[in-house]
Amino acid sequence: YKTLRLILGDQLNPSHSWFKQKDNETLYIIAELAQETHYVKHHIQKLCAFFHAMENFASALSQAGFNVLHLTLDETCNDNNLPDLLNRIAKQYQCSVIEYQYPDEFRLHSQLEQFKKTHMLSVRAVDSEHFLFPFSQIKKRFVKNKHVTMEHFYRDMRKQFDILMDSGKPEGGKWNFDSNNRNKFSKNDIHDIPSPKLFTNDVKSIISRLNKHKVAYFGSIDNQLTWPTTRKQAISSLDYFCEYLLVNFGKFQDAMTDQSKHNTSLYHSRLSFALNTKILHPLYVIKRVITEYKQRPSEISISQVEGFIRQILGWREYVRAIYWVNMPDYATKNQLQANNKMPSYFWTGSTKMNCLSHALTQSLETSYAHHIQRLMVIGNFCMLTGINPDDVDNWYLGVYIDAIEWVEMPNTRGMSQFADDGIIATKPYAASGNYINKMSDYCKRCQYDVKQKVGEKACPLNSLYWNFMHTHRSKLEKNPRIGMVYKNWDRQTEEQKTVLLKQAAAHLIDLESL
Ligand code: FAD
Ligand code: SF4
Repeated sequence: YKTLRLILGDQLNPSHSWFKQKDNETLYIIAELAQETHYVKHHIQKLCAFFHAMENFASALSQAGFNVLHLTLDETCNDNNLPDLLNRIAKQYQCSVIEYQYPDEFRLHSQLEQFKKTHMLSVRAVDSEHFLFPFSQIKKRFVKNKHVTMEHFYRDMRKQFDILMDSGKPEGGKWNFDSNNRNKFSKNDIHDIPSPKLFTNDVKSIISRLNKHKVAYFGSIDNQLTWPTTRKQAISSLDYFCEYLLVNFGKFQDAMTDQSKHNTSLYHSRLSFALNTKILHPLYVIKRVITEYKQRPSEISISQVEGFIRQILGWREYVRAIYWVNMPDYATKNQLQANNKMPSYFWTGSTKMNCLSHALTQSLETSYAHHIQRLMVIGNFCMLTGINPDDVDNWYLGVYIDAIEWVEMPNTRGMSQFADDGIIATKPYAASGNYINKMSDYCKRCQYDVKQKVGEKACPLNSLYWNFMHTHRSKLEKNPRIGMVYKNWDRQTEEQKTVLLKQAAAHLIDLESL
C-alpha cells in the first residue's frame, strides 16, 4: 500500500471525504490501543462502547470495499504507543505516506504532531470534517483566558447556518426559549415518560479481552451494551428521540427524579456518544429535528426544538472552541484553590444525600447522567466542598459514555467547578438544597431535611453553599449577578452566620460521613 490512514476511536465519520472514493493503494487502520485505555480509569461501558463502535465501523468500511486493518488489544499489546504502532504497520505494508485526521484531544494532537515532525516518511493531517465552526476560525473569534458569551456565538451560528431563522429574524420571535423550559415533573408526568431506546449489543468478547489485558476499569455492565454503536442504531436513536421525546425535551430539560426507574435519561436524546464518535454529524441531527418540528407543528413547540438545537449548534461547538483556545493551560486551572480529596462514595454511590446518591449510582450503573445531574448535583457538590478539579475532571472523563476531553473539561473544570476564572461561566453554578428541591423529587426521600440549615438533619448543601459564598467573597462579590446573595448573607445575625459556617466546617473535615 502507498498510504496508511489512521482512524481514531472518535473518528467514525462515514461521510468523511476519505470515503468518497475507493483506491487499492490505501490501507485504513483502526486499532484498540493500551494507551487509550489507561490515560484515565474508564467506566467499563465506555471502553466497550468505543471498541464496539470501532469494530462496527471497520466492518462497515470493509463491506463497502475499503482495505481495513482492524487490530484488537491482542494484536497491539506489544506496541508501546500510537507512533510505535504506526511505524510498525507502515513498515510491514511498505507505506510511504501516513495520513491522519486532526484529533480533538490535545493529548493525541501533540503526540501526532510530534510524530509528524520527526518522521522520515511523509505524514499529513487532514480535517475531521465534523464540527460546524471551523478550527481555523477559533483563534479569530475566541481569545485565550477571555470570556466569550455563548449566546452571541450561538446567534451567529444560527444566522450562518440559517437554522430556525425567519427572514433574518429568529423563528418564534426570540433567540432563546429557556424561560419556558424549567418544569419539574409531577407524579403523572413521571408515568408518561417513554422508555429509552436501548440496544442489545453483545460485548462479551470485548470484556474478556479487557480482562485478559488487565485493563483497569470501574462501573458495571451485563454482557449487553445498550448504547448505539453503529450508524443504523444511532439513526434509530435519533428517530426515536424525534418521535417520542422531542415534544417534551425543553419542558423537562432541567428536571430530575429518582422515580423513573425504567428511564434514567428522561426526555434527553442519548445522542452524545454517537455525536462525539462522529457516527452522527451535528447538522444531520439538527436537520432531522427541524423536519420533525415542521411536520408536527401543533404538537412540537419551538421552545422544545430551540432548546435542543442550542445544545448542539451552540454549547457543543462553543466548548470545543474554548478548549482549543485555552489548552494546555486550561487543564491546570484551579482559581478557587480547591484541594480536597474526592470522597469514596463517588465510586459506590453510597451517601445519605439522596440527590447525590441517585446521580452517582445512576452514573456508575449506566455511564450516563443528564446535564443538570452533572452540573447541579454532582458538580455543585464538588465545587461547594472544594474537591480538587483534577480529581473532578478525571472522574467525569472516566465515568461518562460521551466523555472526551475537549467537551468534558470545559464543562467540568469551567462550567461546573468555576476553576477557570470565569472563562466559560460568568458566575459559579452554586446551589443550596433549595434549587435541588425546586427541580426534583429527591428531597422527599432524603435522610436530610432540605428546609433545615443547621443541626444533624439539615441538608448539608445549605451550610456548604453559604460557606462557599463566604469563603470566596472577595472574588465573587463584585459580580453584579451575585451581589444579592451577599445582601442576604449580611442580613443574617453574626450568631446565625457562625453556626452555619461551623456546620459547614464540620462537614468539610468529614465529607466521608455525609
Ligand atoms: P441531550 O440533553 O439530549 O442534548 C443533546 C446534545 O447536545 C448532547 O448529545 C450533546 O452533544 C449536546 N450538549 C448538550 N449540552 C452540552 C454541553 N454543555 N456541552 C457540549 N455539548 C452539549 N457532554 C459530552 O458530550 N461529553 C462530556 O464529557 C460531558 N461532560 C459534562 C460534564 C459536566 C460537568 C456537565 C455539566 C456537562 C457535560 N456534558 C458533556 C454536557 C451534557 O451534559 C451532555 O452532553 C449530555 O448530558 C449528554 O446526554 P444527551 O445526549 O442525552 O444530551
Ligand atoms: Fe439533596 Fe439536600 Fe435534598 Fe437531601 S435534602 S436530596 S441532600 S438537596
